[in-house]
Amino acid sequence: MSDELQFRFVHRRGLFSLEVEGRFGANAVNGLYGPSGSGKTTLLRCLAGLEPQVRGEVRFNGDVWQDEAGCFVPPHRRQVAMVFQQGALFAHLDVRGNLEYGLKRTPVAERRLGFDEVVDALGLGHLLARGTPRLSGGEVQRVAIGRALLASPRLLLLDEPVAALDRRSKQEIFPYLRELFRAFHLPVVYVTHDMQELSRFASRLTLMEAGKIIVQGEIHELLARLDLPIAGEESAGALIDGEVAGYDSRYLLNEIRFSGGVLWAAGEDRGKGTQVRLRIRARDVSLALHRSEDSSVQNIVAAEVAALARLANGRTLVRLVVGDTALLSRITWRAQDELRLEPGKRVFAEIKSVALHV
Ligand code: ADP
Ligand code: MG
Repeated sequence: MSDELQFRFVHRRGLFSLEVEGRFGANAVNGLYGPSGSGKTTLLRCLAGLEPQVRGEVRFNGDVWQDEAGCFVPPHRRQVAMVFQQGALFAHLDVRGNLEYGLKRTPVAERRLGFDEVVDALGLGHLLARGTPRLSGGEVQRVAIGRALLASPRLLLLDEPVAALDRRSKQEIFPYLRELFRAFHLPVVYVTHDMQELSRFASRLTLMEAGKIIVQGEIHELLARLDLPIAGEESAGALIDGEVAGYDSRYLLNEIRFSGGVLWAAGEDRGKGTQVRLRIRARDVSLALHRSEDSSVQNIVAAEVAALARLANGRTLVRLVVGDTALLSRITWRAQDELRLEPGKRVFAEIKSVALHV
């Protein structure tokens, strides 16, 4: 049996209507992406059972949580944890008290995650005695997530969990999130409107717009498609999975090997053998017919044009095949014509190292 979540909802609220059908994968971080007002929070609330008036069906791991015949499992019996943009901690309790609240709500027989385990994964050990007013924004979110996990949920819903944090606090919290997704094998739905953020964690992606799900699928595949609204966004880009092969400490560059060759990415030494995922924005990839010998560009890989989409604003989006993976490049109409690009053509993709971080 798998912890797959299947759902269908139809809902009208004033001018907004939600009409969705889909599924979220088990043991996966399911990214849920869409503009503000597209219905992401409403969908999460429906899944958690917080919108009892909404018609629909929800099934989790074979259990019916809701159906058209009148079955409706109340929120507290769904074992779903939800964390919002601004985690609401109990101000009168210290960190330990807040965490224990999650634990105490769950009968001993149903506790699947231990206190120490969760405290370690989220790095909360040194904060246990601290009062909540003395926590930074990032720490508040870590405690809120820890408290949610200690209720031993079977499904974790994160609604823009880092959106209220500044850049530095975000960078601080990401490794903890990565660790907990890796350690706890829990299906997660992670909502954000920041694709860069989503690309760090998600293995599957759901795109929403105006109360509808446009598409669901594997994240690499969807990010490399030319026909989805995300392809037209300024920060469109594909994902490449690779492994750290070495570090050049003189220039602070990680050497990343992937199926299409080698890339150099700026950042601290990530450690040889570490699996990494690079998001390469289409605007950072330019194309040439010959390998340039004297360019400042450090990353040049041989590629083949797979498909082209002429966008409306004088730009063309090109999908390339590099090794066994896809890369996007955004160039001008003129460059497309001058290079006579068409499917099957062999080119060299040039990616600025400064655009790549691990
Ligand atoms: P998202 O999370 O993607 O930003 P929401 O699910 O919050 O979208 O909102 C979907 C739509 O419902 C929006 O048009 C929003 O303005 C509206 N909406 C949200 N909450 C309420 C509410 N409590 N009452 C009425 N309309 C709401
Ligand atoms: Mg929302």
